[in-house]
Amino acid sequence: MREEELQKIMDNALEKSRGHIAFGKTADYIPELGCADRNDLGISIYTKDGKRLHSGDSDVRFTVQSISKVVSLAVALERCGFDRVFRKVGMEPSGDAFNSLVKLDLSSNYPFNPMINSGAIAVSSCLVSAVTFDEMLDITRELCLDGGIQINERVYRSEMANIARNKAIAYLLESKGILENDVERSLDFYVRMCSLNVTTDSLAGFGLALASDGIHPQTGRRMLDSDVVQTVKTIMFTCGMYDGAGEFAVRVGIPSKSGVGGGILSVVDREMGIGIYGPALDNKGNSIAGQCMLEDIAKKLKLHIFAADRYR
Ligand code: GLU
Repeated sequence: MREEELQKIMDNALEKSRGHIAFGKTADYIPELGCADRNDLGISIYTKDGKRLHSGDSDVRFTVQSISKVVSLAVALERCGFDRVFRKVGMEPSGDAFNSLVKLDLSSNYPFNPMINSGAIAVSSCLVSAVTFDEMLDITRELCLDGGIQINERVYRSEMANIARNKAIAYLLESKGILENDVERSLDFYVRMCSLNVTTDSLAGFGLALASDGIHPQTGRRMLDSDVVQTVKTIMFTCGMYDGAGEFAVRVGIPSKSGVGGGILSVVDREMGIGIYGPALDNKGNSIAGQCMLEDIAKKLKLHIFAADRYR
């Protein structure tokens, strides 16, 4: 497809989706996230054949939040190995809110998957002794093709000052012998990763790296093992959109991960990475207008993983 055509599809999707912003609201359980402009909306697409397109607020920096769980899982699988990671955390959708601890206490002995807070805190507890935060920052910058990623200190401090629920999750994990390091270190690592400032371009870059089997699109360097990339994309597809993952898979059909900062990372395998920003969220914590944009674009470009006409 020509660049101008793709640009038009993105611009149209953005304008069509704007109306949905009114039905969403910014996350405010981390007070600093409530300061975002709920009307912001942006999208970037990076394709394997070298297109770099943007529409709307693609240069606004926002915190990656739960999308960092994808980076953490990938690095944990590389450094700690599949067995060690999946001894601590499962691979099943939870059907509960991202910060729920109900099932963790009642029916299962370990977190359902690495895309919810309990799973990501367990993964962070493995990472703490395997990698420094500065290394994680460098890895994130490389994966996102964005050397400008920094920690957003205000959001970090705001989350650390309102950490009670995640602390409760972490202590529950500790009581079950799941944490490899102490609660404070594991949580600090987890919150730092959530507080990294990205743009839609960074997410499109990361999406392209995953779509390209973990190979750096510019240097050709392998950044992540093939097995790791395959696992991460599968878990994004089944568990990446909180307890809205099933409906999103039906409507959009692209492996994705959202964050309560308003970002969505999407991976169109072998084709492109898509980054979205729209901080007005639905009641599950997903960008409300962002999902509409993705649905529209998936239909127009036939990107649904099971679209019958995708490979025609
Ligand atoms: N830092 C957020 C938390 O732990 C991340 C949540 C999210 O984006 O889902 O509550």
